[in-house]
Amino acid sequence: MFQKILIANRGEIALRIIRAAREMGIETVAVHSTADTDAMHVRMADESVCIGPPQSSESYLSAAGIMSACEITGAEAIHPGYGFLSENVLFARVVEDHDIVFIGPSAEHIQTMGDKATAKDTMRRLGIPCVPGSNGIVDTLDEAKQLAEELEYPVIIKATAGGGGRGMNVAINPNEIEHAFQTARAEARVAFGNEAVYIEKYLEEPRHIEIQIFGDGRGKAVHLGERDCSLQRRHQKVFEEAPGPVISAEERTYIGHVCAEAVAEMNYSGAGTIEFLYENGKFYFIEMNTRLQVEHPITEAIFGVDLVREQIRVAAHLPMSFSQDSLELRGHAIEVRINAEKLPRFDPCPGRITQYHAPGGLGVRMDSALYDGYSIPSYYDSLIGKLIVHGRDRSEALARLSRALSELIVDGIDTTIPLFHALLEEVDIQSGDYNIHWLENWIQRNLTLKEEM
Ligand code: ADP
Repeated sequence: MFQKILIANRGEIALRIIRAAREMGIETVAVHSTADTDAMHVRMADESVCIGPPQSSESYLSAAGIMSACEITGAEAIHPGYGFLSENVLFARVVEDHDIVFIGPSAEHIQTMGDKATAKDTMRRLGIPCVPGSNGIVDTLDEAKQLAEELEYPVIIKATAGGGGRGMNVAINPNEIEHAFQTARAEARVAFGNEAVYIEKYLEEPRHIEIQIFGDGRGKAVHLGERDCSLQRRHQKVFEEAPGPVISAEERTYIGHVCAEAVAEMNYSGAGTIEFLYENGKFYFIEMNTRLQVEHPITEAIFGVDLVREQIRVAAHLPMSFSQDSLELRGHAIEVRINAEKLPRFDPCPGRITQYHAPGGLGVRMDSALYDGYSIPSYYDSLIGKLIVHGRDRSEALARLSRALSELIVDGIDTTIPLFHALLEEVDIQSGDYNIHWLENWIQRNLTLKEEM
């Protein structure tokens, strides 16, 4: 096992990784920008190295800075967390080339899944059901028009290098195809430096269902059920739950098995998530994330496992500590993402925390890097905490979430906490009756429109 690992991240996820490492008796190295000198991850790690100025491009995204920090401190492995360099092929290669262990899948797997058209093609060949669409890249408008007719409108044009909901455009009818095609390509060129696009049937009322998989890198893999992440704003997840309120045990076994088989076949190593749209009882693959997800704690809650510990074990060539048969799903878990944002428009709201109190009690987990007097810098993502609750069933989890939210105090800045109080009052949330458009529509009706009146 490693003696020392470096965490190439900040905020709650850096703390999450430090905690797992400490329980395993592994020393930790934090890296930070000059804006994060007082950050909790710096305080909590055994050692820390300042790697650059506030801008992420010169600190948390600096491969040179991070590799130097490894060299100085003698860290043997790097955990990238999520975001930043976690899915960067070049970084994973640099780490491998320096004989440092990248705690994640191989650079090759990151590359295959990072190009969405290639990922889809690979998954289709491995038996995963996909959204009907083009076989790979669509080069010309004529080709797009012909495919759209075959698929039947509406269709969606998507950038193969896409991410974060960018480079995607829907064409409802033939009049919109030219605009959708050209705009998606232009956006992709600017955002990703790669204008290649592909085309898919546009599903109108799907849910976002994702499967957590875990592989040992030597042909063994398991699944840990699904998470329903349909409640999204601007394609960003806001509220996630596991198991999915509408997924049956049979469906879970079927899709979980297909996913585990596919990644076993690839010799995939570590944690990964296979994302699907789910409509009328059918699953349609959209993409695979080759890293730990923000919402991984709800899966940890219902299966009673530590996914970060497992990632570190597998990276150190130890066998997985669970098998498919030993994994037993218990109860229901929900996560809400708390952002430093001002409602109703979700404007970023960095600033000084005058008072912070985390909720506690049975079945409550608060993953956050906040503390009294902490000043949230303006340079990074607005996520400041994740409240995760676990109950014997969905109604207990909802009641627990309501209770925990009422205990949570974050003073000094605006946050999205009031959004969750309001959502818990909604019958559709209480019954689990929502799809990927529900939250945007609700925000439009209840927050934005009211403000305009
Ligand atoms: P990104 O990598 O940018 O997050 P995804 O391919 O994961 O892109 O898609 C993000 C979101 O866009 C999905 O969760 C869904 O809301 C919507 N979406 C993507 N593809 C389709 C489709 N074929 N039909 C309907 N909605 C889609």
